[in-house]
Amino acid sequence: MITAERKPLEELIEYVRPYDRILLVGCNECVTVCAAGGRKEVGLLASALKMAFAKEGKTIDIKELTLERQCDPEYIEELVPHIEDVDAVMSMACGCGVQEIAKRFKNIPVFPAVNTKFMGASEQQGIWAERCQGCGDCLLGLTGGICPIARCSKHLMNGPCGGSTNGKCEISPDVDCVWQLIWDRLKALGMEDRYEEIIPAKDWRTAGGGGPRKIIREDLAE
Ligand code: SF4
Ligand code: SF4
Repeated sequence: MITAERKPLEELIEYVRPYDRILLVGCNECVTVCAAGGRKEVGLLASALKMAFAKEGKTIDIKELTLERQCDPEYIEELVPHIEDVDAVMSMACGCGVQEIAKRFKNIPVFPAVNTKFMGASEQQGIWAERCQGCGDCLLGLTGGICPIARCSKHLMNGPCGGSTNGKCEISPDVDCVWQLIWDRLKALGMEDRYEEIIPAKDWRTAGGGGPRKIIREDLAE
């Protein structure tokens, strides 16, 4: 999933300060799972903003709405009847959702309420960890299903580096050296020979180095 974290309240207050009527929009997908921008967080943020402005003697009208997905134009259309009587929109979705709203509604300011972080997985309750950077040419088949791009601090294609100590990364004793994890897994699978193969330097054009990326599926495109 895409992970995100809510921005500090102070920053959000400044975004909406010039306006009296706000539409606060959550998303039912990734940001709900990582507890950053689902229906519950929409309610909490709306209350926090109202209270903050009430302390300043200002009343702010905040409409709350949570879409099934904000990264899909089909769902963005559900905002149409709600947009007319607000001055600005604040989105609690990832950056994709914010941009979809901005693209659809050209005459109204749209602000992000969360910081989009990374593609990751739940490690335990309340902890999410980065797992993929969407490099566009997945090499998990060579690395025992463990990603060195997202999980090695130096994004090394072949490792470990000289900083790996007792299975930990040189950046912190709390961080596993991913190349140690890769070696342990390949060994457990009896695939040590894979480790001996040098992975060539990565062509970063597949990771967006050549400009914004698109996936075009001719069989699905209309
Ligand atoms: S190799 Fe690329 S696509 Fe595969 S998990 Fe890592 S960053 Fe993601
Ligand atoms: S210690 Fe391991 S994880 Fe850390 S930078 Fe070196 S190879 Fe990458």
